[in-house]
Amino acid sequence: MKKYDERETLFSRVSLTKDTQQYKEFYKKNKELQITDDSQRQFSFRDVLRKDESYKNLFFPLTKNNKLIIQNLFDMVKRQHVNPNRIDMDNGFSANIKEIGKYYGATSVGIARLNDYSYYSHFGGLSNSLNIDNYGEEILPKYKTAIIFTVLMDKDMINRAPHFEELLATEDAYLKVAIIGSRLAMYLKELGYKSMFDCSEYYLAPLVPLAYDAGLGEIGMCNHLVTKEYGNNVRLGAVFTDLVIGYDKPIDFGLKEFCKECKLCLSNCPSNAINSKTREVNGRQFYEFDDNKCFGMWINSGTDCGICISSCPFTQGVDQVKLDLIKKRPEMIKKILEEHIQKYGRRNNTKNSLDIVKRGARNGD
Ligand code: SF4
Ligand code: SF4
Repeated sequence: MKKYDERETLFSRVSLTKDTQQYKEFYKKNKELQITDDSQRQFSFRDVLRKDESYKNLFFPLTKNNKLIIQNLFDMVKRQHVNPNRIDMDNGFSANIKEIGKYYGATSVGIARLNDYSYYSHFGGLSNSLNIDNYGEEILPKYKTAIIFTVLMDKDMINRAPHFEELLATEDAYLKVAIIGSRLAMYLKELGYKSMFDCSEYYLAPLVPLAYDAGLGEIGMCNHLVTKEYGNNVRLGAVFTDLVIGYDKPIDFGLKEFCKECKLCLSNCPSNAINSKTREVNGRQFYEFDDNKCFGMWINSGTDCGICISSCPFTQGVDQVKLDLIKKRPEMIKKILEEHIQKYGRRNNTKNSLDIVKRGARNGD
């Protein structure tokens, strides 16, 4: 089975500092990536966002301290001891854990078995904000179970993609993911189970495959998890634990067939990063994807784009009764798509700014 190496992810690659030992070692083995990665190395959203300085001065501080909050949550979880008086659990406790996750703020929660290959093989050094230098450190498979959850993003903001509101939505969701994950991890430690949470600053494993295993959705042409109810307008979080409870199974609501007809993320992607050619990884179907092309759009727009999120009919809402019929009546896919395009066009692209970043809103106009 293939183990992902976080050092091969685009974010780890473009964070490498040119001509350091780590840089030289990586590109000695991956020469074909070097020129494009060099052109995209170490940029900041603030530098490239096409807004004037006063806009940036006013609105970038909205999320500036998110990483500091996440760092404190991370330290709190690390510091907390595992209660030596463990409370035994049976499989049925899965149902409680799901409700507890929602009580803490998750939109949906699923539970998956962790195999050795579920983990990244090595850290990619993306935890600087936690004051951790872990580049190249091997990740040991310490936990047995992943509690995976989704957090819904603000649709009004996502429908402004690729503008600044989209970035506000994703940053906010990453913070919520960390809050929920840390609370769940601390709760499980209180019950006597070793636990740690994944967050935007610290990943033990790629989360899309685990979210698929946990039955939270299917993998769409955009390579994101697509949920039946909210599409890919969700961010994923996880808690890794040695608690063993009942596991969920993958679901099949017909997304593979739907994507073949739809392709709206592909046709709307401004950088041609999305591809309809499938690839299989550890028995799960993904799609070809050009991460450098996608990142080029981030650098161009000064946000993490998100057009493939606002383009997805499931993000805007799909009639669930019709959706449940598509396995028996595949013609329903065309019907759903026709209705979607009639309502939103090829993508819901709302142009006017939201009040939160409208400068006139300060004066009440
Ligand atoms: S984020 Fe934008 S550029 Fe990247 S794949 Fe999605 S639509 Fe394409
Ligand atoms: S936009 Fe269409 S093709 Fe892309 S993931 Fe969503 S349903 Fe699939």
